[in-house]
Order: sequence, then C-alpha cells, then structure tokens
Amino acid sequence: MDMDKLVSLCRRRGFLFQSSEIYGGLSGFWDYGPLGVELKRNIREAWWLDMVTAHNELVKSPGAPSTYEMVGLDCAIIMHPQVWKCSGHYDLFHDMMVDCRQTKHRYRYDQVRGRWAEHRGQRVFIATVAEHEAEDMSQRAQKFFKLRAKEADQIVWQGETTSLDKVKDLSQVFAPEATEIGTLTEPREFNLMLETCCGAIKSDENKAFLRPETAQGMFVNFKNVTDSTRVKIPFGIAQIGKSFRNEITPRNFTFRSREFEQMEIEFFCHPDTSREWYEFWRDRRMAWYTSLGLASNRLRLREHPPEELSHYSCGTADIEYAFPFLPPGEFGELEGVAHRGDFDLRSHMEGKLVKNAAGCLELELGADGKPVQKGSGRDLTYRDDISGERFTPHVIEPSAGADRATLAVLCEAYTEDQAPDDKGAMQTRVVMKFHPRLAPVKAAVFPLVKKDGMPEVAKEIYAALKQRFIAFYDEKGAVGRRYRRQDEAGTPFCITVDGQTLQDGTVTIRDRDTLDQSRVKSADVVEEIARRVEG
Ligand code: ATP
Repeated sequence: MDMDKLVSLCRRRGFLFQSSEIYGGLSGFWDYGPLGVELKRNIREAWWLDMVTAHNELVKSPGAPSTYEMVGLDCAIIMHPQVWKCSGHYDLFHDMMVDCRQTKHRYRYDQVRGRWAEHRGQRVFIATVAEHEAEDMSQRAQKFFKLRAKEADQIVWQGETTSLDKVKDLSQVFAPEATEIGTLTEPREFNLMLETCCGAIKSDENKAFLRPETAQGMFVNFKNVTDSTRVKIPFGIAQIGKSFRNEITPRNFTFRSREFEQMEIEFFCHPDTSREWYEFWRDRRMAWYTSLGLASNRLRLREHPPEELSHYSCGTADIEYAFPFLPPGEFGELEGVAHRGDFDLRSHMEGKLVKNAAGCLELELGADGKPVQKGSGRDLTYRDDISGERFTPHVIEPSAGADRATLAVLCEAYTEDQAPDDKGAMQTRVVMKFHPRLAPVKAAVFPLVKKDGMPEVAKEIYAALKQRFIAFYDEKGAVGRRYRRQDEAGTPFCITVDGQTLQDGTVTIRDRDTLDQSRVKSADVVEEIARRVEG
C-alpha cells in the first residue's frame, strides 16, 4: 500500500490534519478531523468496553489464572515532580541524539541508518533518515563521490544497511542533508519529558513536567483505589489519556508524535502468580487487535530477549504491526506488555531504586550514604484479608497507544478494488474497509432522486438511525458518486430510498465490502443496521 495515498485521503476526507496547518504546521502534532475523531473515539471506546465495562469479575476469563476485577481512573497530566524522580523518568527517560554541525539538524542516534560505500580508495558511511533509504543512499553517494547517475555502478557498497550506533568513528560519516563528511557530533543524552512551569514565578522550584506516560497516576493512586472501593487483588486499573514526549525526530505520520494518547492498564497481582498473569495479558491484548480486524499476518508478538529487559522485569512482549511505511519485514510497536515486578510501588514507597550485585532492587544511596531520592514514605503494600499475608503486589502493564492503533486500523482498511460505476463500467474504487464497530459513520441514507416524496422517507430513516448511530444523509449528485464518497469514509452500509419504497415500503441496504444489495422494510432498517454493526 502506498502511504502517500493514505495520507492524502486522511487529509482530503477529514481523518487527520497537520496541527496548526495554516501556520505551516508543527512537527509531531496532529489534529483529528470530523471522521478521524469518530474513528479514534470508537477505538478508545472499544478498549474501555472490552477491558473494563464488559469485563465480568464473577466469571473466569478464558486463559486467566483466576477471576479478577477492573476499575478506571482519570488522573491529572501534570503531577508532583517527585513522581518522575522516583519513577526514574527524570534521570533515565532519554534517547541518544547526534547534531549535525553543518546543517544544525538533530537526529535520534538509533534512527540514522546507512551503509559503507567505497569509490577509488575512499570509504565513507552514507547516512540517511529517508523512508526510501536505499534510493536516498544511492543518490547521496553519487553526490558525495561527484558521480553522475549512469556512473552509480562504480560505487562499491559494503556490508548491510545498519544503524549509526554501530559505527565507531563518526568522522567517516556523510550525514543526511550535509554536503561534507564528518559533521556529526558524538551522541548525547536528551531527556524526552516536556517541561512547563506551574505558578506565577518561573523558577526551578516551580518546574513541572507533562506526563510522558499515564502509568504513574495509577501507581500513586494504588492505595486510594483499594481504600475507596472493595477491589481485591488480583485487579487492574485502566486509564486513557494524553501523554507527551519531546521526540527528537517525530515521523511516520502519527506513529511518533510529541502529543499522543495512551490506553494503559496496571494489573496488580500476587508475586507467585505474576508470570501467569503476564502471559494472560500478553495473549489477551494480542487477540484484541485481531478482533478489530487487523490481519494476523501483519501482526506480531515479539518477546524481548533477556538482555533487552528492564532490570526489574521478568518478561516483556511488544505487539507489533507491519506498517506500510516501514521497510519490508520490519514491524512497529503498537503496544508493550510488561511484567514490572514490584518496581513501581516500591519506588513510590522507598525512593529511587537500583539493582545491587545480587540482582535485587535496593535504594540508591549517594556518596553521603543518604538516599539520592526519597519516596513518598507511604505504605503501598497490600494485606490479603483471608490469608493475612502482607506483600508488595507485582504489576503487569499492557500499555497501548490510541494513535498507533488508529493508524494501524487506517492502514489496514485502505483498499483499492474494481467496482462498476453508474453505467456499469468497471472502475477503481478506494474503500476504507473498517470493522463495522470502528467505522466512523455506520450508515448513510440516500433518496435515489430529489423528488416524488423520496427525500421525506429518507430523512425519517436518517432521524431514526441518528438516535443510535452516527449516520449521514446525502441527496446530492448521482447515486454512484454518493456510494463512492461513503466507500472512502468507510461507511459499511448505505440505505437507498427508491421508486419501489413508495410502493412496498422497502429500501435497499448496500454492503460496502461485498456490494450486495438487499431489500428490507424501512421500519426494520434501524434494527437491521444494529444487527449488522454489533454482529
Ligand atoms: P517506541 O520504542 O516506539 O518509542 P516505547 O517503547 O517508548 O515506544 P512505551 O513507553 O512502551 O513506548 O509506550 C507505550 C505505547 O505508547 C507504545 O506502544 C505506543 O503505542 C505509544 N507511544 C509511545 N510513544 C509514542 C509516540 N511518540 N507517538 C505515538 N504513540 C506513542
């Protein structure tokens, strides 16, 4: 699938716009248009319904070690700065970056890729951040060696394309967009938290951060939740909300943005069963994406190898999707499911933790023997009423991005096929094949012609549908053109009022994917659409 076509459809039909477009846009920020807002809302609502509202705590879910409860939270975006010191974000939440001294551009160290090229004894690492990296590298190498396109085969390419962090000597690198060699600085740390200031005085004491994840709000409220409800372990807290990261190179449409929305669960359980709960959530979350229509051959569950795990984790898996903007065979993360042990609750109780020589977590002490960062000092342990046992719960964290899920759904839906036009001639049509549950508009209603009482009947059906679903009314232009517009919006069903409606009270329902048309009584239309949408 051609990503440019999807990006242009998103803009043309009102799924996504660049933020502040009339001022030239702002890199890493996006606005959802009238169709996009409904699509993303449907994804968020499907998540909340499936994970929280419809969860039955009385019945054991398939594959779960036992029954469990789920509750929700909605926390503030700005939290006490100490939260980020204890969580580790203040010191550790950074990416490595390199600067180009010549162009003043800044790149994420691991995102610059390239390949060694040699010509007449000169060897150079041709670096790129372009999507079509092979093409870009070839053109950049020709530029560097001052060769014409027809002389490109004189360049000898060595080894595979690798990321810049595999290159030891940066003086041999021809940076993206530079005109001379060796312009990149050594890599440096760059903290990804966006800063702001609370209160009238701009000082270090008033410095605050926009949250880089929603998770911490659920940890710091652990005691509030157990004290104010009757939830018992095992239970999960769910939250949907905005997060912010000052990404060095936002790119790939909404995939890497600076403002995005997360859908996160913190699931608290007994340490003895945490491994089983981890496996349950990993598999359950993977199944959720296929239930929304993402093709299983484009989805992948990638268990992190032990060396990639955080020091406190005994298991993490990423749920990944083969986004069309990635090179063939590469996948991008949709969601991370992590076993976080007792790291988070202990950090907020005790303070900043580090791993000791025995591999256990302990309070990090400074040269003066005092903790480098104290925790809240509050008791965040849990006491089991029945056994009387007191313990610090372990946490499983399925952390999904609402924008990445929306982008995957948009990529998956984009289809071009052949369909007959008004005169019966076959034409290419663009159709967004959303799962009916996610489609922004569920049904469109058309009078075949704007006379003979057809608009009146159509408007009545439209009014009835609108009580239940997002519906759309259209009486302008040839009916074939109206169908095409709905195909592009991904509307699964189109209802047409025609001459026969006036005789026998039936209307046609056209199916977006099969193009089948069936007749139903106009009085039954709402129920019929409900049956087809809700399955
Ligand atoms: P990546 O490695 O792609 O930067 P991450 O591993 O840092 O992602 P997490 O911290 O695990 O991401 O965040 C959980 C989820 O939040 C991700 O799986 C993704 O869906 C979403 N997410 C994270 N960063 C961004 C971003 N910059 N833009 C959009 N979504 C994001």
